[in-house]
Amino acid sequence: MQKEFEECDVVICGGGPAGMTAALALADSGLKVVVLEKEHFPREKICGGAVAAYVPKVLNTINPAYKQALEEFTLKEEVNTCRVFAPNGKALDLTFSESGFISKRLDFDNFLYRMVSQISSVKVMQGTKLTDVKITDESVFISTNNDIRINAKLLIASDGAHSVARKKLTQDTIDLYHHSAAVRAYYRNVEGMTAGVYELHFCKDILPGYFWIFPLPDNCANVGLGMLSRHIAVNKVNLRDEMLKIIQSVPYIQKRFANAEMTDEIRAYDLPLGSRKTIISGKRFLLCGDAASLIDPATGEGIGQAMVSGRYAGWQAKACFEKNDFGADFMKQYDKTVYDKLWLSNRRRYRLQKTIDKRPWVLNFGVNSALNFRFIHRMIEKFIAQS
Ligand SMILES: Cc1cc2nc3c(=O)[nH]c(=O)nc-3n(C[C@H](O)[C@H](O)[C@H](O)COP(=O)(O)OP(=O)(O)OC[C@H]3O[C@@H](n4cnc5c(N)ncnc54)[C@H](O)[C@@H]3O)c2cc1C
Repeated sequence: MQKEFEECDVVICGGGPAGMTAALALADSGLKVVVLEKEHFPREKICGGAVAAYVPKVLNTINPAYKQALEEFTLKEEVNTCRVFAPNGKALDLTFSESGFISKRLDFDNFLYRMVSQISSVKVMQGTKLTDVKITDESVFISTNNDIRINAKLLIASDGAHSVARKKLTQDTIDLYHHSAAVRAYYRNVEGMTAGVYELHFCKDILPGYFWIFPLPDNCANVGLGMLSRHIAVNKVNLRDEMLKIIQSVPYIQKRFANAEMTDEIRAYDLPLGSRKTIISGKRFLLCGDAASLIDPATGEGIGQAMVSGRYAGWQAKACFEKNDFGADFMKQYDKTVYDKLWLSNRRRYRLQKTIDKRPWVLNFGVNSALNFRFIHRMIEKFIAQS
């Protein structure tokens, strides 16, 4: 069969939040950009769908019109309060000044895709999967599943937790101490949900993991369970079974699911955590989002980190073309920018995760103290908001 060729300046591999944000950041660059996406939009991504409150600001720094578009995006449930359930079943509400939101990734990623598809210099090639990548001094050569060959000057790899590009370019392997796995399912009619509130349940048998109930529009909820991969491996945990066990046997949760109905199936995926630094750039390539292992080690949030790193990758790509420098040394300024922004917070969250792991009683103690003393309650809110 005759091979098809595509020439461009920047090839972005993966059309999730990281890749699409990189494409948005390149919109005004004058560069010819190709986004490869193995699926077709709208497509699901296994996720809790909690989008951090700072995400509109990230879009605003690229173009205020993108922030405006996000404000007009309606397929989301705004949240500003995190209800934390300690192992003893007591609940503490942590309320924040800025709201984030919960959305199905089917909808949120499709929203990002629609914005990118309006940029004339960006071509999104759906159903096209990167299968191999070779980098020379002069070029990036990409092979794909459908026999299209791509030749670019620079690769932004944003192909997620199972990144093919990362494996090929960095030989990085999974470190179970800095890796989680999680399952999620969509439910309808979970009782006792409060508008604006998302719930984290630290049930005693799953620590330091947590069970979540996140509200979605139309009386739906994203329900899931995440845990450190080291614990899953050592204790041979089956996350699907554990999630159902919580729903069926923890008394205060069980009664809320009495009339609930699962509307799809329980599905699992990996979370490479940002509690260790990995190789995130090199000659003619930048990794961002999950491909760069940037997920918050305590909460499992990675959408915001993906968008922050995607934006920096887009800006670094522009700088490479301006200076005509695609060398590994020049790329190091990308590493610095990403880690300057995310590393401190990820390390703090890592310490929090380890504290819960080693001393789970801290959760009961923290929630009890905060319920009894207003100033402790405020201190915890401030700590979480700042980190
Ligand atoms: C169960 C679970 C719950 C989570 N909950 C939350 C949450 O509530 N909030 C939060 O902020 N984060 C959450 N996360 C983390 C979040 O999902 C990720 O951090 C985020 O999706 C990373 O975005 P990304 O763009 O880097 O990668 P992805 O969103 O994974 O996007 C990668 C894209 O690349 C495409 N792709 C993959 N391989 C190839 C290839 N070879 N060629 C072409 N395209 C390819 C994929 O189809 C996909 O579209 C959760 C994760 C899991 C597993």
